[in-house]
Amino acid sequence: MNCFKHRELTAVGTCKICSKAVCPECVLEGDRDITCSPVCEEESGLFRQLNLRAFKLYGISEKPRGLPQSVVAPMLMSGILVCAAALGFWLEPKIAFVPAIFLLMAFGVGVGAFLAWRRHKENGLNI
Ligand SMILES: [Zn+2]
Ligand SMILES: [Zn+2]
Repeated sequence: MNCFKHRELTAVGTCKICSKAVCPECVLEGDRDITCSPVCEEESGLFRQLNLRAFKLYGISEKPRGLPQSVVAPMLMSGILVCAAALGFWLEPKIAFVPAIFLLMAFGVGVGAFLAWRRHKENGLNI
């Protein structure tokens, strides 16, 4: 994909508003979005404000419903690993290092779940 203005240059992204491909020379990087011109840049800012207002309106940022997949999945995984560790230790106490590895993995996954949960709380979105 090449730039809409400079046909010979490879595009680095597309404008969020008009979807034109832009090269590093033409790109305007706003707060978060890639845009091709000051006009699109302004529109992108407007869009963001509208979005924020909509989020507030529907209470998305204040009261997220349930936990997102990215938090639930590792939490479940961690729980399963702890159960497996307990079962392993109960069945075969002589090879306790195996459950120990499971516990370590459960801890790692648990930390991942915690980080995902914190990120979820910060942005307040169900993603
Ligand atoms: Zn544009
Ligand atoms: Zn260009």
